[in-house]
Amino acid sequence: MSSEKQLSLFDLSNNDDSSESTSDSDSDFNLIPTDVKIPIPLGTYQTMEQIAVHCNKCHRCELGENRTNAVIGRGNPKAEIMIIGEAPGQNEDEQGLPFVGRSGQLLDKILQSVELSSDDVYISNAARCRPPENRTPTPKEIEACKPYLLEQIRLVNPKIILLTGATAVKALTGDKRGITKIRGQWMEWEGRLCMPIFHPSYLLRNPSRKPGKPKWLMWQDIQAVKQKLEELQSDNNSIDF
Ligand code: URA
Repeated sequence: MSSEKQLSLFDLSNNDDSSESTSDSDSDFNLIPTDVKIPIPLGTYQTMEQIAVHCNKCHRCELGENRTNAVIGRGNPKAEIMIIGEAPGQNEDEQGLPFVGRSGQLLDKILQSVELSSDDVYISNAARCRPPENRTPTPKEIEACKPYLLEQIRLVNPKIILLTGATAVKALTGDKRGITKIRGQWMEWEGRLCMPIFHPSYLLRNPSRKPGKPKWLMWQDIQAVKQKLEELQSDNNSIDF
């Protein structure tokens, strides 16, 4: 599709507010902004399904050439906690779901350890397509995919965002510090509470549970997350008159 045609998608003078989620606007979503120079404005999508349609046709970066499935998210799209990883691996690419391999199994166990289930979280990634050989996605690939991530965050509207590993932290916030420096610290991004945590694959490579080791630190962090969630929920339920 030509850049002109893509751009016209976002010509606000043509926008009709009454067209929310009609079949006409759904067919507009087939006019994917495949050109990375064409921005995807916040507010473009009304549902995760629309994002999935675009991402499965997306060629804003080269990762689109080899994907089996774009990986959008799993869990509760209205969850209070959103978890952002790095990029899909082979299992995720095959199944079209994030964190379904060994790292994902460990992530689920970590959540279960503080009685959080897949209903309490929505899980996604900085990149929606698998990089070759599971390499780290490049800054260009992450930038190309960022509008989708921002739209997902807007739709989920989480109270807490957990960023697994330095790539996720940098992708969302631009903070380039190493994960061992910043893990477990609350930070604010666009008015949302975020916490960097270790990536589960790092824990798989460092299995010791001794105090001070990565798994032990993760246990401290996930307990702090659960406590913060409970605080936020009780603030919400309090009578303020
Ligand atoms: N690692 C990630 O960062 N994301 C996945 O979806 C799977 C493994």
